[in-house]
Amino acid sequence: MRSGKGEKPMRILVTNDDGIYSPGIAALAKVAARLGDVRVVAPGVEMSSASAAITASRPLSYKRTDVPGLADIECYRVNGTPGDCVMLGTTLWEKTDLVLSGINLGTNLGNAMWHSGTLAGAKQAALLGLRGIALSAPANDNEEPRFDILGPWVETVLERLLEVPDLPLVNVNFPSKPPRGTHWTRQSLRHYDGRVVPGQDPMGRTHYWFTVVPVEATEEGTDRWAIEQGYVSMTPLRLDLTDHDGLAKARQTQVWKNLRFA
Ligand code: MN
Repeated sequence: MRSGKGEKPMRILVTNDDGIYSPGIAALAKVAARLGDVRVVAPGVEMSSASAAITASRPLSYKRTDVPGLADIECYRVNGTPGDCVMLGTTLWEKTDLVLSGINLGTNLGNAMWHSGTLAGAKQAALLGLRGIALSAPANDNEEPRFDILGPWVETVLERLLEVPDLPLVNVNFPSKPPRGTHWTRQSLRHYDGRVVPGQDPMGRTHYWFTVVPVEATEEGTDRWAIEQGYVSMTPLRLDLTDHDGLAKARQTQVWKNLRFA
């Protein structure tokens, strides 16, 4: 979807949940700049696991900032969530075509999609009727994703994704090594990997950490399976959370059919 002759370049808003100074957002903004006009609007501090929260109880600021490596791109930091950044960014930069969120330092697979601030940035775009794409890559304490290696893959995946119409929201995860290819996947839901672990603070008081446990036995065709196999995982998502089978069954249930309040 590179702009052709006479066409206006795409307006691409780039956000994330790791904060505006994360190397992941710089890598994504550089790729996006080859596809259209880019503006970066992102949280001033890390907002991982903020999900789709928006800030409704205090005002938000929108401050121009310099991001290393992005001298030619307008960048703004917001004291809010990824959702705030997309609301504010698309209001103050009219006619945004596309919102990219990431590249997250860490995967967003399976149940993690419910908590992901990275995905929430893209989801907020879809709620506004725009296209949203979330991008994530594996990371751990000792190793950040190799964005220099991933860059060309990110560009290829985005170009191909933008050629597919009617995909308002897509969650993309890259594998830890240079990808073997791509797979359209579904969300892996077999296990919930969240867990609460108790500990003690220096005063001897009990506190709790919310953490994750490794998920075993992944199912073929899922997002987690694809990246384990070394492929880029692309999961199309929808905003309608309705369980349509459940709805149909519930409507057929006699006890509800017979229930009258008046
Ligand atoms: Mn994050």
